[in-house]
Amino acid sequence: MDFVFPKYCVNCRRRGEYICANCFSFISFDVSMICLACNRPSLDGLTHPGCRTKYAIDGAFCAVAYKGIVKKLIYNFKYKPYLADLKNSLVELFYESIIQQEIFQKIYNLNPTLMPIPLHSKRLRSRGYNHSKLLAEGLAGKLNLKLIDALLRTRETKSQFGLKLKERKENLKDAFALNTKYKILNTNMFLVDDILTTGSTLSEAAKILKRNGAKKVWGLTLARD
Ligand SMILES: [Zn+2]
Ligand SMILES: [Zn+2]
Repeated sequence: MDFVFPKYCVNCRRRGEYICANCFSFISFDVSMICLACNRPSLDGLTHPGCRTKYAIDGAFCAVAYKGIVKKLIYNFKYKPYLADLKNSLVELFYESIIQQEIFQKIYNLNPTLMPIPLHSKRLRSRGYNHSKLLAEGLAGKLNLKLIDALLRTRETKSQFGLKLKERKENLKDAFALNTKYKILNTNMFLVDDILTTGSTLSEAAKILKRNGAKKVWGLTLARD
């Protein structure tokens, strides 16, 4: 297949890889994390003890900063289906970064289950694949963790782009449901998505999982906006 579709660096067009070594060196692994409940800084990415409530997400981890070449990579991955095998490069980047984070390691030892953030069926049909699921599948393989795809998008939501925090939360309210043929009682889970901005999507999805009995839920995203 490489013969028919040679790979080019998404950033500089050099032939060979989707991310050439030179462009790779400009990727920033320096991500500043926030508490997803109050959106203030949280050094370890965990929800502040004082912000924890029954259905609140427990924290989130991100691999790289959402800027420069990472923006281009994710854009190509999401909107150019013929580049869907860009997945392997992104999963590699995702895995290599998070595995080095100490708190992630601790949670990883609890053997959590991976759950991708779903797309609405209409958008899934038009795009042909759920990019978050592709990332989750790749990570599940590398981390040797179980994956279940049990969240449903029950209604179409507007793009979160340009919305204020309060509007984002409103936009996502009751946007998810759990496919109840899956049992998640007392399960620890990682919600997998591509980009973390304010965390409204992760928080809303975590709430549904916890209402259905999940024990602890953390977000796991490739990039931090
Ligand atoms: Zn390059
Ligand atoms: Zn907080």
